[in-house]
Amino acid sequence: MTQLNRVVYVTGGSRGIGRATAYRLAGPGTAVVINHFDPDESAADETLAGLAERGATAESHYYSVTDREAVETHIKAAAEKFGRLDVLINNAGITRDGLILRMKEADWDLVIGINLKGVFNCAQTAARIMTRQRSGRIVNVASVAGVIGNPGQANYSASKAGVIGLTKTLAKELASRNVTVNAVAPGFIDTEMTAVLPDKVKQAFMEAIPLGRAGRPEDVAESIAFLASDAAAYLTGQVIHVGGGLYM
Ligand code: NAP
Repeated sequence: MTQLNRVVYVTGGSRGIGRATAYRLAGPGTAVVINHFDPDESAADETLAGLAERGATAESHYYSVTDREAVETHIKAAAEKFGRLDVLINNAGITRDGLILRMKEADWDLVIGINLKGVFNCAQTAARIMTRQRSGRIVNVASVAGVIGNPGQANYSASKAGVIGLTKTLAKELASRNVTVNAVAPGFIDTEMTAVLPDKVKQAFMEAIPLGRAGRPEDVAESIAFLASDAAAYLTGQVIHVGGGLYM
């Protein structure tokens, strides 16, 4: 195997922002491991092919980030196989929208489970590896909804606000071991997650975004790549808003 200079783990890396991030971080000398939870492996396989094209050593892990045992087994296995773990991107996330008066308890639990507990599961596992290494980068994908709220997203906005709080606490706990923890808070990004929204909602976003367009997954990937890079060595506990000015 070629000498690896960076080992990256991206949850929810099969499509959308996760795939764009995996591609952005891929290159010769990198190992990029993606995780996903759709039993249909076609999107993950496509990402693996794209990673190979970019010269990365790539593999895909199929499990839910809510499954603590699976999280530990797979992230530890990657670190052992590739010799270390340099970067964890906690990107896996879902929406189950509904106004609070009608929101089902199951939809609350599911969203909090994947978007918030999933980040805890993966970050704790990675932190144990990274603190031993005395180096590491964790980047969490939050959302503008976690900062300003969004009608119909009580579960989602609570989960993302939780991710921001978790980011700041981990940043303080892990800084002495040279592990930085930051977040990006995307605004309205053109992925399968937003494709299902009614045209009226999309239009309202377009009118509220000063830069006048939806973000591309690659726009978010750039900020994530920066936070994961040596250039961001002196940044921790920060939230970068990638929303075309939607929130400022
Ligand atoms: P997406 O296109 O729907 O992709 C979601 C990714 O998460 C997929 O790879 C999916 O893989 C994975 N995933 C879902 N449930 C999972 C689970 N239980 N365990 C492991 N992986 C799981 O969404 P996206 O727009 O790229 O969103 C990525 C992140 O950005 C999310 O955290 C989202 O909340 C955040 N975000 C998005 C926007 C936006 O406008 N799109 C705005 C703010 C924040 P499988 O399908 O294989 O499960």
